[in-house]
Amino acid sequence: MAKTMNRRQLRAKLALLLLLVVILGALSAGFLISEKRVHAAAPEADASDTAPAATTEPQTEPLTEAVPAAEPATSALPKSANNDPIIVSPTGDGWETTLVNLQYRLPEGYEPTLAPAVEGSSVQLDRRVAPHYAAMYAAAKADGCILTPYSGYRSYARQQENFNRRVASFVEQGLSEADAKAKTQTRILPPGCSEHNMGFAMDVVSASADFVETKEFKWLTEHAYAYGFILRYPENKTDITGVMYEPWHWRYVGEKAAKEIFQSGQCLEEYLGAAAAKQ
Ligand SMILES: [Zn+2]
Repeated sequence: MAKTMNRRQLRAKLALLLLLVVILGALSAGFLISEKRVHAAAPEADASDTAPAATTEPQTEPLTEAVPAAEPATSALPKSANNDPIIVSPTGDGWETTLVNLQYRLPEGYEPTLAPAVEGSSVQLDRRVAPHYAAMYAAAKADGCILTPYSGYRSYARQQENFNRRVASFVEQGLSEADAKAKTQTRILPPGCSEHNMGFAMDVVSASADFVETKEFKWLTEHAYAYGFILRYPENKTDITGVMYEPWHWRYVGEKAAKEIFQSGQCLEEYLGAAAAKQ
């Protein structure tokens, strides 16, 4: 009798133990599954965390459509099917953001209507742009920074002269004519491809890399957008602009675009949804 009782007790204990094992097994399986889910979700979270803030921040339309394949953000930006240069003119609606580079060129012999020379210099700008430079100049001066105008509007003839001189100097250094021309284009654009021919850009103080070290440069990087100017050829966008870093070259694009470009960290090509400038 006692033996039977012991056996029954033993069976009951075994059944209980089995049940416990099953429950524990089920629990740990559930835990593993949920753990797996967490791990599976992790890479997505990382990807969005590490994405540049500029692209994840909510932005205005043109900024989110910066992919070259996308439709140009502005209807004013014409497209070329066969990669031929496109002729643009800085007139009408959106004149401020007219894109000029090796791909988008000004009409042959384009001459802007110029404003009188900028105070204390012989440098001229487009008459629509000059007042904004004057306002920026005055604001900088009030902060103890003198934005000495170095080069503004340049005629096609002058641009061609500068271009040829640079090509010749590279040829002298041993480069072929074609290589010299390609290298020059990253520093001086040919006539019709330069914002200086349009009268929209000002080289400030001096066309020198040392300009980065000045308080004037610091002032411009913090305040220029408020006057409608952008750093046109940033250091990290040379593959898109096709032009070397030019800390001295400030381009007028209007206050709205300048602010959006400043906040997004894009270059003008990206902002307008244009493809990278052909090199
Ligand atoms: Zn310049």
